[in-house]
Amino acid sequence: CLKNIAKYNQYTNAFVDLTQPDHIRSQAAEATRRWESEAAKSAVDGAVMGYKMNFCTSDLRTTCSSAMLENFKAPYTATAIELLEKAGVIMGGKTNMDEFGMGSHNVYSHAGPARNPFKIIDRSPDETKELEARSAGGSSGGSAAAVASNMCFAALGSDTGGSVRLPASYCGVVGFKPSYGRISRWGLVAYASSLDTVGTLTKTVDDAQTIYDIMAKEDPKDSTCLTERQRKAIADTINPIDLTKFSDQEVKTKPLLGVRVGIPQEFNVAELAPATKDLWRRGIQALKDAGAVVIPVSLPNTKLAVGAYFTLATAEASSNLQRYDGIRYGHQSDKNDEKDALYTHTRMEGFGKEVKRRILLGTYVLTSGSFDNFFLRAQKIRQMVRNDFDRVFSRRNAITGSCGNLVEDFENDNSTATRVHALLTPVAVSTAPKLKDVIGDQIDPVDAFLDDIFTIPASLAGIPSMSVPFGTCTKDGFPMGLQVMSQYGDEEMVFKVAKVIE
Ligand code: GLN
Repeated sequence: CLKNIAKYNQYTNAFVDLTQPDHIRSQAAEATRRWESEAAKSAVDGAVMGYKMNFCTSDLRTTCSSAMLENFKAPYTATAIELLEKAGVIMGGKTNMDEFGMGSHNVYSHAGPARNPFKIIDRSPDETKELEARSAGGSSGGSAAAVASNMCFAALGSDTGGSVRLPASYCGVVGFKPSYGRISRWGLVAYASSLDTVGTLTKTVDDAQTIYDIMAKEDPKDSTCLTERQRKAIADTINPIDLTKFSDQEVKTKPLLGVRVGIPQEFNVAELAPATKDLWRRGIQALKDAGAVVIPVSLPNTKLAVGAYFTLATAEASSNLQRYDGIRYGHQSDKNDEKDALYTHTRMEGFGKEVKRRILLGTYVLTSGSFDNFFLRAQKIRQMVRNDFDRVFSRRNAITGSCGNLVEDFENDNSTATRVHALLTPVAVSTAPKLKDVIGDQIDPVDAFLDDIFTIPASLAGIPSMSVPFGTCTKDGFPMGLQVMSQYGDEEMVFKVAKVIE
């Protein structure tokens, strides 16, 4: 890891703050001794991980890539990281991100943009001289770039509307967003609390599963984190796949027998690059070859999801970001000339352009004049998006008990043959764009919102979703991922399907 950090960090700008190499070495030596005496703390004892800059750690800064928190050192460590530390994981450093998680290309960062390492790895500077830098995706761009360039075994990201899955697709790694409430958000700086999840970036689906298992625990410090009792109740609702009608031989060779996977027709949007469509087709074939039944399904409210997401996420952000007032912690302006001036100057100086834009938008949708028209309407759409999913999944939603609006059909088992265990879609419309096309005023901020069209529905519904690398684009040779989603609480199904296509 240290060697690769020395080799690739300057170009990728993935790690913003690094743990002292000697400290990493001595922790690694201790872990080695534990392994040698068969006393390893876990399967990942001694592994080096990167943590996104919005996770609080009592070592290193927690800047959220913002001038507002430029010198902020948290007094405590996030629960997810504490659990990893208990398992022996070593912190390699803190990774670059879009300011407070707002963005899709890691270009809204006080630390400068992260760069996609894909064509850089193992090539000489001469070979890469002409290469135009590409987006690493965002907002967890630093975490994805760090894993893709082997600077760490895995990294934590946060996913509010796709921030783990989009960078994973662009950089060619696995990005996993568990169900909302699976992993404690204590110590993860809030962006939009009803959507924020702790996610992972790894090389393989197995690695994602290993670190997910370590972190997915009850935490009294986060009231939205599932209790052990709730976790058990959710597990009890998952019926095993019925394999009785298949021969032993078939079961052994085809890992997805009995699994039905849906292809949402509404994801076949006009903007989809032909190479992405082709990839999606190949993914479908791979699932069929593994024994899955693949059927078209409809999620009719998909096209409304982006508008609803940016209404709700900005509203929640405008509320969450009120705490940066220049008084309690973080940046404080030295201009304090008249009433309210300290607050105004602090926020003017501390927040970047995109964050300001979102605070204004969020404040606007919460004003009395627009609350009903925007905020409430967006909440209704969010419910419609959830219903869409509940209507296509063969399992009821373990939290709400909902099965869409077809209770009777569901009870009579009439519709189960047309319902599915998982969904397969693209993650992004194309491969990573060139940085110069997404930086500065090159891109209309509202157009940029469309980068998240495929990832946002799972965020609104709180369901688990994974971006799995699935080959490279025939045109530019950059990687692309496919997205696997399943019903709330059914992470195991996501892992099972993802393993077939990775
Ligand atoms: N790109 C989306 C946004 O800007 C998602 C970000 C995220 O998941 N943190 O809101």
